[in-house]
This record gives sequence, structure tokens and C-alpha cells, in this order.
Amino acid sequence: MLQEFSNLIQLQKHFNNELTCVQYLENLKWNGKPTCPKCGWEKIYHIPTRLKHPDLAGYKDFQCSNKECKKMFSTLTNSIFEGSKIQLQVWFAAMYLISAHKKGISSHQLAKDLGITQKSAWFVLHRVRASFAPKPIDQKILGLFAADETFIGGKNKNRHEDKKVDNSQGRSTKDKTPVFGIMQTGGIIRTTVIPNTTAVTLKPIMKSLVEKGSIIITDEWLGYNGLKKDYAHIRVNHKQGVYTSGAFSPNNVENFWSILKRGIYGIYHQVSPKHLHRYCYEFEYRFNLRKMQDAARFINTMKQTDGKRLTYKGLIAKPAQPEIMVDEDGVVIE
Ligand SMILES: [Zn+2]
Repeated sequence: MLQEFSNLIQLQKHFNNELTCVQYLENLKWNGKPTCPKCGWEKIYHIPTRLKHPDLAGYKDFQCSNKECKKMFSTLTNSIFEGSKIQLQVWFAAMYLISAHKKGISSHQLAKDLGITQKSAWFVLHRVRASFAPKPIDQKILGLFAADETFIGGKNKNRHEDKKVDNSQGRSTKDKTPVFGIMQTGGIIRTTVIPNTTAVTLKPIMKSLVEKGSIIITDEWLGYNGLKKDYAHIRVNHKQGVYTSGAFSPNNVENFWSILKRGIYGIYHQVSPKHLHRYCYEFEYRFNLRKMQDAARFINTMKQTDGKRLTYKGLIAKPAQPEIMVDEDGVVIE
């Protein structure tokens, strides 16, 4: 099993061949008891691997012994690594870098660091981001929450409009995409990319996450009208900084927005609305695990790689609107 490590060099020393990597994933996935991903059968035959790498010559894939099923599968089936030509060692290094870099890492930088093409790096980044997607919650949470929304994107000259001003409160969506965030005390945030910031949009999101009777703190935006029916709703005035709730307020959510925006504008420069939710997952994931050591965060990241396959086809599927992605050196990514 993976020993303690505290940097990329140590990680690479441990995962120094494809076999170690795939065995690590196998153990993480099944803990010694491979199970059919199609029917759940536990009696499994070993068959020669179809994974193509010299390190894996003696490695075994699996076949379901259920006569109705007979599915052939490997450790990588249904994982973010399935069907990728990039070596697992490279994937592992990428996952370490992506989960450790607080401000994010561009596909251009990742390509240089790992010696892969920018197109591959872009794909790796999006698959990893997809694996960061928060899991559906088992049950709603009762507690103290702060909710806030922000706008991402737009041309540089328009960005000052992010600041909230009277009436409009900067909520023009002309060239920006709204994102809603709800944070629990303790600083765990959940973000959602939304079409607009009306009550019709915001309320169902809150209702799906927050148990009735909880306390929700928001600013004075009209989209939060009507929360009193289900929650103890506290409104604070952004400009005057009047908080009736002690230290916890929408300002806590704003701290996250500033990290997200610094990352998106500083590292990625521009993000198309189509992919924005994945960037939100990425920043949300790191933010929520910010108190974890890099090694622990890496292991947590690896645990999330299963069952979250995002195909290249799915990734480049018809954009809702024309998009241009530009990396830090102004390179257009197609
Ligand atoms: Zn089966």
C-alpha cells in the first residue's frame, strides 16, 4: 500500500511503474474482491489483460462468471482512466498536481510539467475535474448556512461590475454566468452554476440541501425573498457590514468567490459557460479539503476516480454557444 509521502518526487518513486499503479487502483476499488460492474456478481474469472503496456504483461483482467452476463472488465473500467493512452504514472502525477495546487494549474503548465501535449493535458484536467463533482447528499443538513451568488466571466472591462451596487447589485448576466454558493459553518461550500439569480432558481437549490428550520444568512438580494417560510432567514447589509450572526456571513462565501475568480482569471483566463461547472467543482473540492495534507488529499482524489468517466466525445459535445478557451500564454485551446 501507499507509504507516506510529502511531495511529488516521493510519489513518483513509489508509483514507478504501471503495475504498481494499477494494483493500487485495484485494491482501492475492490479491496481484494473484484466484483462485476454490470451485474454485481462476485465470482470472477481472471483473464489476460487487454491493457497495453509492457509493465502489465502478467497482469490479469476479469470476466464475470454469471452465465447471463459474462462481462469482461479491467480495473480501469468505468474509471476516469478507462480508454486513456496516457500512462497511469503520468495520470497519478497529474492528479497530485491538480489536487495540490491551490490556485489551479493550466493545461499549458500541466503539459509542460508532465511532457504530454496540451490537448492531452486539457483532457486530463477535465476528467479530473469531473471526478471532483460533489456526491448527491444522503439527507438534508440542519444547521447554519450562508448563501451568496456571484458572476463569472465577461470581458475585463466589465469585471468591476461584479461588485454589488444599488438596485442592480451587479447582477447583469449579459456576458457573465451566475454561480450560487451555499456554505455551512465550518466552511464547507457547495456551488451550482445557475441560469439566473431569481428566487425561482435559488430556492429549490437551498431546499434540496438545507433542512427546514435551519438558519440561512444572505444579503438583501430579492432572490432570497420568501425563505422565511422554511428557514430562519437573516439578512445582512453588504455595504454597511452589519452582521447579526457573529463572524459567519455571506462574506465567508465571498472569500471562496475571490479564490475561484483569482484562479479562473489568473490561471485559466477565460472559461466557457459550458465548462464552468467543472472549474467550480475543482475549486470547491480543494477548498473543502483545504485542511487536509497533500498526501491525504491525493488518496481522497484517487478514491473518486471510479465511476466518473467523462469521454472526450462528451467533453467536446456541441457547445451551447461558440467558445474560445485561452490559456495563460494566450494559446487558444481547441
Ligand atoms: Zn456480471
